[in-house]
Amino acid sequence: MRFSFEVTKTDRSGARRGRLTTPHGAVETPVFLPVGTQAAVKGLTQEALEALGTEILLANTYHLYLRPGHDVVRKLGGLHQFMSWPRSILTDSGGYQVFSLSELRKITDEGVRFRSHLDGTEHLLTPEKVAEIQLALGSDIAMVLDECIETPAPREKAESALKRTTQWARRARAYFQECAQRNGEMHQWQFGIVHGATFADLRRESARQLLDLQFPGYAVGGLAVGEPHDVTCEMTGEATALLPKERPRYLMGVGRPEQIADYVALGIDMMDCVLPTRAARHACLYTSEGRVLIRNARYAQDQRPIDANCSCSVCRRYTRAYLRHLFAAGEITAAILATHHNVHFYLDIMRLIREAIEFGILANFSSVMHARYTAGPA
Ligand SMILES: [Zn+2]
Repeated sequence: MRFSFEVTKTDRSGARRGRLTTPHGAVETPVFLPVGTQAAVKGLTQEALEALGTEILLANTYHLYLRPGHDVVRKLGGLHQFMSWPRSILTDSGGYQVFSLSELRKITDEGVRFRSHLDGTEHLLTPEKVAEIQLALGSDIAMVLDECIETPAPREKAESALKRTTQWARRARAYFQECAQRNGEMHQWQFGIVHGATFADLRRESARQLLDLQFPGYAVGGLAVGEPHDVTCEMTGEATALLPKERPRYLMGVGRPEQIADYVALGIDMMDCVLPTRAARHACLYTSEGRVLIRNARYAQDQRPIDANCSCSVCRRYTRAYLRHLFAAGEITAAILATHHNVHFYLDIMRLIREAIEFGILANFSSVMHARYTAGPA
């Protein structure tokens, strides 16, 4: 078996230190996945991502299905070869993008019918089709199609979305296992997604239903979409309490720098978020002292690096004054340098968190981060 996951240490909080292995290498967990929506992390080359120590990244099924098309990617040797990324890749299900980007979507038990946000063409994504697309892309980890709903959602709507998500997960699992029987060894792991909106009992129900399907890993979805942080934590905890300890757990679409350790303490091993890359393009830099909004006039003659405690190549070379100038002048280098620093900062948080778990001091780390991000930079 070329896939494995092992937990090497668990601390008192429930935080886990582990290692996920895919055919494209080992991933030290807890891990943060930079988001490469269209087979590219905006502002970073694959060389830069490798140099930053990225071991796994996320690519979006919805975007790659519409453009350039999964058949094109398959013919070009799969996503790893197409984008020249030798390490691991996780592809999401496209569910969230269909619900947030496309027009005229119609959800039935069969699947979701929608019009492309690119050219208006009509498409139908079913659980089987989404599994087929991700097999063609050849990602290491594939997510099943799920029904994403707006929050806060009324209980009735959360219940029906949960029911449909389980039915779809069952079909996606069956399709995947049929392919495995036909083709022999599979070069992909398929993860299920726990839903249930902000209802604790529905979260538990969703987790229990998915356990029957024996996924090698489980995600928690539909959170961090506007609800308070303590609710996100409570719902995550409801799910992780029931998920198998020996399998990886992935909290989708989180989070802010000061919140990451909270999720890790709930037993989460994997996280992804557009925040470090998107914020960078909007001149928001994350540092060990809090956020730096680099367009601010106070940085016009600031000769310090973005973060004196950061060892990234941007902080070793450039000043805040220069970064501010680049943003003011509209230079694309501004976004490139800011993204480089922010992604380095997130990966560094994960390194520190992994160390903190080893030493049993994760709680200290979390309170320091919350204090700094509440107070803001000096
Ligand atoms: Zn830096």
